[in-house]
Amino acid sequence: MNLERPVSYLRSRVPLSEEEVRCLSSYESWWVEEGAAMSATVDRARTPWLRMYDERGERVDEILYPSEYWKLLDEGYRAGHIWRVFEENSLRPFFLLGYVTSFWDPGLYCPYTVSISTAVAVHKYAPEGVRERVLAEMTRKTRPAQGATWMTEIRGGSDLGAGVETVARREGDRWYLTGLKYFASNAGAEYAIVAARPEGAPRTVRGLALFLLPRFRQDGSLNYTIQRLKDKIGTRSVPTGEVFLENAEAWLLGKAEEGIYLILEALNISRVANSVGSVALAQRALAEAVKYARIREAFGKPIAFHPLLAREIRMWEEELAGAFALAWWAVELLDEVWQERPRYSSRYHLFRLVAHLAKYWTAEVAVRLTRWAMEVYGGIGILEEMGVERLLREALILPIWEGTPHRQALDALEAMERKQAHRLLLEALKGRVDEGSLQAWDRSLAEYLSLPAEEKEARAREVMETLARWVGRSLAGTQKVSSGA
Ligand SMILES: Cc1cc2nc3c(=O)[nH]c(=O)nc-3n(C[C@H](O)[C@H](O)[C@H](O)COP(=O)(O)OP(=O)(O)OC[C@H]3O[C@@H](n4cnc5c(N)ncnc54)[C@H](O)[C@@H]3O)c2cc1C
Repeated sequence: MNLERPVSYLRSRVPLSEEEVRCLSSYESWWVEEGAAMSATVDRARTPWLRMYDERGERVDEILYPSEYWKLLDEGYRAGHIWRVFEENSLRPFFLLGYVTSFWDPGLYCPYTVSISTAVAVHKYAPEGVRERVLAEMTRKTRPAQGATWMTEIRGGSDLGAGVETVARREGDRWYLTGLKYFASNAGAEYAIVAARPEGAPRTVRGLALFLLPRFRQDGSLNYTIQRLKDKIGTRSVPTGEVFLENAEAWLLGKAEEGIYLILEALNISRVANSVGSVALAQRALAEAVKYARIREAFGKPIAFHPLLAREIRMWEEELAGAFALAWWAVELLDEVWQERPRYSSRYHLFRLVAHLAKYWTAEVAVRLTRWAMEVYGGIGILEEMGVERLLREALILPIWEGTPHRQALDALEAMERKQAHRLLLEALKGRVDEGSLQAWDRSLAEYLSLPAEEKEARAREVMETLARWVGRSLAGTQKVSSGA
């Protein structure tokens, strides 16, 4: 198995069709020959410029990137992150291509992720007429319209029910939004899905609705403005801004009272993408560390061959395999349920639990492994010119966006308590894991769930971490034998 190439790792873990191998290999070659250097340039250029006014004094809010940025972005759209999903009626191409993208640039996977989340929401919930037009723009093979998912506001992203202050005012069948989205990635996108509270709705998550917001109003003027772009330590391949809405025109997606479900559906796609991206980045970090450990000598031989480091390399290979298996199970389950609408099937509740476990654990692996890779490089690991420090900078956001580790653990607990998702999980693993381990988990989860509420919540992260790691490692043993439990 070649750790230095994402497609080779994918092929060793997932059954791929000839067409998939052809498409992925061609995209991978582009990254090796051109993309990797472009991505390094975009990272070194740091925050792009925001040009707010044109020479006539008109507000334009144009984001000025290095020219490499558009080449990087265009190549991924052309390869099929978005259009293939609708052509094949499956999210699989989005995740397979995303693995290759994230191996070199997990920040760049963000524009594709928020675009697919937007396109899926439009496909499922946009009003007739809007749906066809917007989807046609978003599934173009060259320079498609991009999407964005703006939920978080200054008062907080974890507690959206209390944090969202953006108000939606209705006039006939038209809606107008006013508010400030404090963390708005892919600012500049042609369409965004936005959480807002219809006037008079309760100040809880149940009071939130989801809207589709175009970049331009019907009269051609800007529908949202960008107050500033954030200076970030990583993910510089996606601009994150503060976006201001003032009576911005929008369409309601689905039913207002089901808004929170629609918001979670979008988040679930990006959580799985985050898991896939985390594993790809972790693979890259391991590849870089092993490559260096084989050439760096200390005490008379390459450091890779000293027992302590050799053991750590083996340990990380196993951890990576487990994280990959968990992420890929989330991909397969999502591909089964992504067309569902509320009220969901039990398969959907199983998916939700696996997605929380995968989002949490793969991001942890990415952060821990990229930090370890820097350690293997010793002092030069700290130097910007060596590039390995970038992997840790890119990794640090992965546990936070799309819901923090605490959120994943508490939401996983909720799925267990309200939907008995742990039983679905253990049932799905039957035949793939030895009966004794399943029974032991059944007992210990029942014990955990019977604890007093406060203690249960306090221990959620430690329990979910142990469970996620066990599920991943168990599946890694059987991967490629069967594709999903
Ligand atoms: C670079 C970047 C890009 C982003 N892009 C987007 C975007 O495009 N769209 C978007 O909507 N958001 C975006 N975000 C926001 C991101 O999703 C939030 O930062 C994240 O959800 C956490 O919200 P918060 O920052 O408000 O932290 P808070 O919600 O204030 O949380 C602070 C801390 O409290 C913890 N905490 C909260 N509640 C509990 C609890 N009950 N128990 C224990 N601990 C708890 C959290 O886990 C966290 O550790 C982006 C963020 C960054 C950094």
